[in-house]
Amino acid sequence: QDAQRTQRQVGWYADDMRRRLARQRAIEDGLWFARDGSGLSLVYQPKIDIRAGKVIGVEALLRWQHPELGRVSPAEFIPLAERTRAIFPIGEWLTRTALNQKSAWQRHGQDISMSINVSPQQLGAENDGPCVLETLIRECRRLDLRHERLEVEITEGLLSNDTVMGQVRQIAKAGFGIAVDDFGREHSALSLLVDCPATTLKIDKSFVDNVVENERQLAIVHFIVDLARRLGMETVVEGIEHLNQLVALADAGCDYGQGYFYYRPLDPDQILELRHGH
Ligand code: C2E
Ligand code: MG
Ligand code: MG
Ligand code: MG
Repeated sequence: QDAQRTQRQVGWYADDMRRRLARQRAIEDGLWFARDGSGLSLVYQPKIDIRAGKVIGVEALLRWQHPELGRVSPAEFIPLAERTRAIFPIGEWLTRTALNQKSAWQRHGQDISMSINVSPQQLGAENDGPCVLETLIRECRRLDLRHERLEVEITEGLLSNDTVMGQVRQIAKAGFGIAVDDFGREHSALSLLVDCPATTLKIDKSFVDNVVENERQLAIVHFIVDLARRLGMETVVEGIEHLNQLVALADAGCDYGQGYFYYRPLDPDQILELRHGH
């Protein structure tokens, strides 16, 4: 009887594995067609000055409608796009689209600062695709956008890579802002911050989740904010969902916040309405 049960479990595993592989395959195939932007769109999540309660900028976030699977989360498809190198054309598309949007807002009289997320591959040595810095400079010139109002978000894990760090320095030197994304999610090597030209530290959502219940968690947030201040960096807290979290984070001295408590990622016209409301 035990043998029978084991047999059944092995069968389930195999089914589950097949399903997952089939989905992965469908996503990878679909990404091929997304190269020119088909099915892709961008939403924009406001970033708020915690003390002033004002929207100070937005982060562009990618959305994708797969031809058969429907909406697929970036958390699922970005890693696959990175592996299949589809991230190069997609990254190029999103940079152009985001900057076009920024320029459109500007024509409506709204100079909104913006951050875009960049994958490690896009900054790596084996990069045979379009260079992020070149695209940024070219599009800013074409659209007459100021570099200082744009920021590139990079996850902290990448900063240990010399090639990536070199690219990051050049982007910073060209006058663009640099944000370290998801700070504290993985094992943070603080020494990486010594030579990092980043202007912003984005404190990961995992610190926010139980910041109210857990004093030790809150102590770490205080420490990060103090560290950032000493390094001349600003702090953004990600994933604020409740008022009591906001209160604790404001008390810890965090500068800016993002999260469902304020706004979910929005469509471009909603961003305009929001700004006109101010
Ligand atoms: P991220 O850059 O750290 O973006 C924050 C994620 O948290 C976004 O998920 C956002 O919608 C979500 N979020 C914001 N506030 C809250 C909240 O209060 N509660 C919860 N539960 N979630 C919140 P999203 O859009 O699904 O993106 C996931 C990740 O995918 C991003 O994390 C980023 O690493 C990556 N990603 C998204 N767009 C792009 C892109 O254009 N390029 C690249 N390379 N990566 C992207
Ligand atoms: Mg980000
Ligand atoms: Mg993040
Ligand atoms: Mg992230």
